[in-house]
Amino acid sequence: MGHEKTNSGESLTRLIVQSYMEAFNLWKEGAFVVWGAIVVPAEIFRGFDNVVYCCPESHAAMCAAKGAGPDLSQIAEALGYSLDLCSYPRIDIGCVSGGRKLSPTSGLPKPNLLVSDNNNCSLLVKWFDVHHRNMNVPHFIIDVPFCYEPQAEKDLDYILTQFNDLISTVERLSGQTFDINKFYDASMQTARALFEWKRFLECAKHRPSGLTVFDSFVQMAPLFTSRGRTELVEHYKLLADETEERVNNGVFPVPNEKYRLLWDNIAPWHRLHKMDMHLRELDANIVAAPYTSCIGGLEGSFELFELALGKDPLWYMARTQNMSVCPYGLDLRFDAMSWAIEQIGIDGIIFASNRSCKVFSVMQMDLQKRISEKYKIPTVMIEIDHADPRKFSDESANMRLDALVENIASVRSSV
Ligand code: SF4
Repeated sequence: MGHEKTNSGESLTRLIVQSYMEAFNLWKEGAFVVWGAIVVPAEIFRGFDNVVYCCPESHAAMCAAKGAGPDLSQIAEALGYSLDLCSYPRIDIGCVSGGRKLSPTSGLPKPNLLVSDNNNCSLLVKWFDVHHRNMNVPHFIIDVPFCYEPQAEKDLDYILTQFNDLISTVERLSGQTFDINKFYDASMQTARALFEWKRFLECAKHRPSGLTVFDSFVQMAPLFTSRGRTELVEHYKLLADETEERVNNGVFPVPNEKYRLLWDNIAPWHRLHKMDMHLRELDANIVAAPYTSCIGGLEGSFELFELALGKDPLWYMARTQNMSVCPYGLDLRFDAMSWAIEQIGIDGIIFASNRSCKVFSVMQMDLQKRISEKYKIPTVMIEIDHADPRKFSDESANMRLDALVENIASVRSSV
């Protein structure tokens, strides 16, 4: 989208501010606070009267986007946490270790329970364990089997058992009773929001694309801060309607779009605007990223996986525990990327090798080779860190992005 403030841009700011303010207000009034990892189904907590849910990964990404990443990381590094650790835990540990004032939201309300999972990486469990020890707060770990292929029935049952255990744990620790109808309602709101999210992403199929990947990076935040709420549905409906309307009116973020690119990895939160501007000058547009397209889908495809009427929402939550593309095995990563290339129309791929997220980056060279062999489209590997600009060079990244665009142009002129 352009850089004038759109209605959905304003709605995004309102929703984010409201979710953090509400968390702090309810905490002050005595609510039970849960810090949960990004893939933990927050809808479960909406099944309780007075449980507040916060997401440290999402908060760390926001701190990075607002430029607080290095200062917060340095607080953690001074405590002995290595610069080689993922920048999300460094930012988060820095924030709770004296850096609150550096956060745009003054951090998160103090938790009563930590809920991590190992879907994305095992580092996350260790990170939450640091809080468990330092804050003396219970830590519930959801063990999600690794996703080399579509989820097996026995893995789904195993996850379901743990969800039920999580519900009993929250009941026991908070003294509140789980209301299944409230949980069903929250699950339905999220399902409706995901439908609208997919409708928004669909606008990338248009040529020129109705959005840039930077729009989807920025707009994904409420999917982790406001799950299960009607405001979430309203927001994404507005976003999808507004984006569709702009496409219908011939308004595009990169009007002379010549190069349609795909981004592989987490967003470079500290460089969204700069990288977007650089690419616009080249008439290039990163139109999609598996990182945002996988939300609401299942392994190997980015189509919406719907919560069917009559289906148990807890079953749906367990089935979608492997929705995040980052920990897929190579075959599923290849299938998912192929889906994007074929469905969205991609001229070139940027593999962003992320110093922080090793699990997302470790197989990129193999993936790059397989994609190049099958699709014969130019690709490039650039070095990033999603939240630490000290491990990123504009010159080097821009040089490679320029080379990718030149490469696409020369392939075109040779056919
Ligand atoms: S290493 Fe990757 S998956 Fe793990 S916490 Fe960091 S960003 Fe998330």
